[in-house]
Amino acid sequence: MNIHEYQGKEIFRSMGVAVPNGGVARTPEEAVEVAKGLDTDVYVVKAQIHAGGRGKAGGVKIVKTIDEVREAAKELLGKVLVTHQTGPEGKEVQRLLVEEGSDIQSEYYLGFVIDRATDKVVLMGSEEGGTEIEEVAASNPEKIFRETVDPVLGLMPYQARRLAFNINIPKESVGKAVKLMLGLYNVFIEKDCSTIEINPLVSTGDGGIMALDAKINFDSNSLFRQKEVVELRDLSEEDPKEIEASKYDLAYVALEGNIGCMVNGAGLAMATMDTINHFGGKPANFLDVGGGATAEKVTEAFKIILGDEGVEGIFVNIFGGIMKCDVIAEGVVEAVKNVGLRIPLVVRLEGTNVDKGKEILNNSEFDIIPATTMAEGAQKIIDAVNQK
Ligand code: ADP
Ligand code: MG
Repeated sequence: MNIHEYQGKEIFRSMGVAVPNGGVARTPEEAVEVAKGLDTDVYVVKAQIHAGGRGKAGGVKIVKTIDEVREAAKELLGKVLVTHQTGPEGKEVQRLLVEEGSDIQSEYYLGFVIDRATDKVVLMGSEEGGTEIEEVAASNPEKIFRETVDPVLGLMPYQARRLAFNINIPKESVGKAVKLMLGLYNVFIEKDCSTIEINPLVSTGDGGIMALDAKINFDSNSLFRQKEVVELRDLSEEDPKEIEASKYDLAYVALEGNIGCMVNGAGLAMATMDTINHFGGKPANFLDVGGGATAEKVTEAFKIILGDEGVEGIFVNIFGGIMKCDVIAEGVVEAVKNVGLRIPLVVRLEGTNVDKGKEILNNSEFDIIPATTMAEGAQKIIDAVNQK
């Protein structure tokens, strides 16, 4: 789960991580009110969307007067901002962060991520702040430094200090940088984060160190014990199909392709997507209906897949283990009856009662294309979509 920059900064502030003073605004008047409360002669008005790259896309305005704050707010609110992270459709700006301008000396990058190879939290830093860390990783990998955190000891001050020296934080500010990194690590652990990215972290003219941007991602599996975090969720930033899917406990991720996939089990779902790709197709989604795929779940899954206008064909690839193939086949037929079928549908079933299941599909009034193997199913749906 993601949150906005202003929400991330509120968490940081409450846990002793230095950020500029500022506040959220939903109207130009609110922006003016926030600005009036700031003790500064440079104001920054920042579009709040769940995507980075706002600076380059015109979503960060630096102004000198309250009137200019109002103008910047008018311009940004309601605007559809297209950044390299939003996709071509962009995202509408509904909230702003109005904050004090910082006297930036240098910009750095700081990140906390979970390294799946070592199963540990890793602190990453670079003096190449402000630019995409992926670009730095490609062009100057030697400029990215890492500290692996021992889960029992936590981030040790000597590790934070070593990282601060490696990324060339000014000597007189190293103490502040260490405090900030230890604070961020506390946020990471206490709030069950999966990533924290500060780009840029800045050193200021008066020797300060501050997080100027805040990107926090929370582990969805821990939301049951992070009630305060859940309240920060902004549904308008999420894919409506993903929200709908979460209501029915379906693991759904929208993708760009044209073949809708309905699969049970995350591993099989991944393998199905790989197989479609292998034969030259493009999956429209990742969808795991779970082990106990009931007729109701299958119907909802169909609706969600068909709600995606980019879908030109559906591939159902289900292993009947806990749920027997005949029950699944009935679910599929029931779902097609409810939702209607206007695009090709390939169904591959395997497992308990597979023959019964196939019989149900064959005897149905619908034109369901059967497949025996995953490879055959992938090829059949790709062919069917291409023939249209
Ligand atoms: P994004 O990553 O979406 O582009 P950032 O929050 O990183 O957005 O802002 C982009 C750039 O705008 C920063 O690299 C920094 O140079 C400038 N900036 C952002 N906030 C401030 C601020 N409070 N004071 C001065 N400059 C800022
Ligand atoms: Mg940034």
